[in-house]
Amino acid sequence: HGHAHAQPQGPAGVPGVKSIIAVASGKGGVGKSTTAINLALALRDLGLKVGVLDADIYGPSLPKLLAIREKPETIGGKRLKPISRYGLNVMSIGFLIDEETPMIWRGPMVMSALTQMLREVEWGDLDVMVVDMPPGTGDAQLTMAQQVPLAGSIIVSTPQDLALIDARRGVAMFKRVNVPILGVIENMSYFLCPECGTRSDIFGHGGARHEAERLNVPFLGEVPLDMTIRETSDAGLPVVATQPDGPHAKVYRAIAERV
Ligand code: ADP
Repeated sequence: HGHAHAQPQGPAGVPGVKSIIAVASGKGGVGKSTTAINLALALRDLGLKVGVLDADIYGPSLPKLLAIREKPETIGGKRLKPISRYGLNVMSIGFLIDEETPMIWRGPMVMSALTQMLREVEWGDLDVMVVDMPPGTGDAQLTMAQQVPLAGSIIVSTPQDLALIDARRGVAMFKRVNVPILGVIENMSYFLCPECGTRSDIFGHGGARHEAERLNVPFLGEVPLDMTIRETSDAGLPVVATQPDGPHAKVYRAIAERV
């Protein structure tokens, strides 16, 4: 919050939506979608009205992350109503197609699907729309960054070198399209043994913080590698919504306060 600046040029905004924030990662599997949904819930906990747009057309995550099987209703035959979960307005291409249907669309169709999800959905009045971006920094991601009127971006990375190199590309991509970097989140940062409380830095630790300092972008915080986060995420019961008083929700809320 506090970053609701309109872009001077670029794509038109979404009516009623004050601020659009992209959550991105240089590569897949670093926990970008898990982080995006829990961050959205943490922003909700700060009293903001929040929506989530799943912009990963080829590999949508929201149906699984929120265990959504229903189809969105239409208003007047054309405009779609977002699905409401845990106080969030959410939309994903995955709500409109079967899970088994492979997405073999070409670039232009991907763009039109994204445009539709932005412009033909009754998002309502939102303080923040969190966009779960597709992983990577190729042409498709660049186009998305240009199509969506972004107030800022957040890069999710693990501490590993490889993930960091990819995150660096992510930072460079957003800089190229003049989208401010709100900061970097280190996911799977460390492991706390639930038995003995010993901390292990499985993928190394502090790499993302160090890299953020080097790139002169804010470091937003560390999320541990944790069984509860994985289980709740994979069961469609995100931890911030289902265990609001637990330690994980606190971690995500502390990050949300820095955004
Ligand atoms: P991405 O969007 O980057 O592909 P996902 O959010 O789908 O990544 O996460 C990949 C896998 O890692 C999922 O099974 C998810 O539950 C798990 N995961 C994500 N973050 C954590 C974490 N902090 N601790 C444990 N498991 C995690």
